[in-house]
Amino acid sequence: MTHTIHPDYEVIVIGAGVAGIYQIKCLVDLGVTATVLDAAADLGGTWYGNRYPGARFDSESYTYGYSFSQELLNEWHWKERFSSQPENLRYLNYVADKFDLRKHMQFSCRVEAAHFDETDTLWRLQVADGRALTCRFLMMAFGLLSVPTVPRYPGMETFKGRAFHTFFWPHESVELAGKKVAVIGTGATGIQVIAEIADKVGELTVFQRRPNWSAPLNNGPISEEEMADILSRYEAIFAPCARQPGGFEHEPDRRGFYAVSREERVALWDRLYDEPGFGIWLRNFREIFTDEAANAEFSAYIAARIRQRVTDPAVAEKLIPQDHGFGVQRVPLETHYFEAYNRDNVHLVDLSETPIERVTATGLRTSERDYAFDIIVYATGFDAITGAFDRIDIRGVGGTRLRDTWHDGPSTYLGIFVHGFPNMFMPAGPQSGSASTNYPRGIESGVNWCTGLLTYLWTHGYLRAEATREAEEGWTTHVRQMYSTMLMRKAQSWFTGYNSNVEGHEHGTIRYLVYNGGSPKYVATLKEVAEKGYAGIALTAGPTSAAPGHGAQDTYEQR
Ligand SMILES: Cc1cc2nc3c(=O)[nH]c(=O)nc-3n(C[C@H](O)[C@H](O)[C@H](O)COP(=O)(O)OP(=O)(O)OC[C@H]3O[C@@H](n4cnc5c(N)ncnc54)[C@H](O)[C@@H]3O)c2cc1C
Repeated sequence: MTHTIHPDYEVIVIGAGVAGIYQIKCLVDLGVTATVLDAAADLGGTWYGNRYPGARFDSESYTYGYSFSQELLNEWHWKERFSSQPENLRYLNYVADKFDLRKHMQFSCRVEAAHFDETDTLWRLQVADGRALTCRFLMMAFGLLSVPTVPRYPGMETFKGRAFHTFFWPHESVELAGKKVAVIGTGATGIQVIAEIADKVGELTVFQRRPNWSAPLNNGPISEEEMADILSRYEAIFAPCARQPGGFEHEPDRRGFYAVSREERVALWDRLYDEPGFGIWLRNFREIFTDEAANAEFSAYIAARIRQRVTDPAVAEKLIPQDHGFGVQRVPLETHYFEAYNRDNVHLVDLSETPIERVTATGLRTSERDYAFDIIVYATGFDAITGAFDRIDIRGVGGTRLRDTWHDGPSTYLGIFVHGFPNMFMPAGPQSGSASTNYPRGIESGVNWCTGLLTYLWTHGYLRAEATREAEEGWTTHVRQMYSTMLMRKAQSWFTGYNSNVEGHEHGTIRYLVYNGGSPKYVATLKEVAEKGYAGIALTAGPTSAAPGHGAQDTYEQR
């Protein structure tokens, strides 16, 4: 039986970041009734938030931008090799305005619940503003780093000064001159913000739990001539991005770590250390990611660089990670970060020696002493990859909650589908090709593929698409297996689902959150699945009443 109930929208896209903007563009081009809902007051996602000083790309700007429109490529001139947050937000606004997408977006609309209605084959959404909306297909484009997390210290609400997470850095300018500022956290955002504000504040105290490996960003302006050259070479720039596992231009050194002498290795590292961007990580020998000894030798090289740059040897040692090797988690890139610690007004507190006990009305209390602050900055990261999913009450077939299904970690088909949650697409989801790569490259592939499948469904009159249980198990096993060869499986990072500020994500459990096979393999798999008539996805012209886990796919109208 085919139900003909017309939902409010054929497609609802949740999230107006890089993914949501491109997804709505594709849907509008197809003439589909679609809208974007975003919790924030405007578009941009990552680049709408994260207005802290120093926030910028560590992807080359011109490999981060969208590639789908030659006209857009021609029109937008990046000004810096690694562009900063204000410019990135301007870019996304420019894209939305150029393609007249704003009228398809609704802001300040937090989606609180999304329930699949099996009878009518549609999704019923509850928005925080009280509205109930329906759609046939639901696109989850709500970001893998969109839910900031703060530590669970007692007394946080008692602090009388200003306190904010870097994601919520105020939109108006914050007076820093002469202020006593605390930054808690030395991950990617901490490293950016510390370096940027060190010479602008009165006193800066950095509270570090575990140091991160970091290397120079080597940013610089892009001149008119350079931009003209980039414009003429875009095809040649995106080609290696598509070829490389990380989705960047950087190509690994293929000589083999052990095939060259120690002197040759050091010569390469000396060169990479002075080059812009992720070259130090991705132009390196591939053994860095898989071979303990190779990784240890390279980590020792970076440690020596840190010792050269930090005047106080005791501080230098504290800034050198001991619990993981270089590159086994996403490497934050820095601009004069280590030199910040040479300043008299910058102090480092090692929380492994003197942990924070509580926040007080005037500052922070560690096991050693009280500190007074005007401003506390929580650079404490995100409930990465699955956080935004966990915060929406998503229910699939039989009322099954996604949060429960993913209690011990996500399980997906291609990082795009979840069995038991029909017509729910994740164009850049957990276990997809996005999180472990230059995001927009993965996002464009994901959005293109999802749009292709939707077109297929509409062309063939299918109302429902759902990954089979077998297909999901196959993909998730593949994702897990890929971790087994990578040193990153040992790291306490968001690649393995570690976040001590989120219940259930503490040290000791691994979550298989990202696909480590690299962009080319991922894209080839997507292509193959589509060519096989969307293998692993049960397609049906009407609803079924089968619950997941009971051979549901057998009752579908299989292609
Ligand atoms: C500081 C920082 C720097 C980064 N730098 C790089 C970089 O250099 N290179 C790179 O490749 N990647 C980088 N990233 C990763 C970045 O997240 C991606 O590049 C990209 O912006 C993700 O886009 P997105 O559309 O998937 O998600 P987002 O940009 O996170 O957008 C998701 C949107 O969904 C909305 N949303 C979430 N939940 C709900 C809900 N329940 N209801 C309604 N709306 C909701 C959010 O408000 C947000 O606007 C960086 C991330 C951060 C935090």
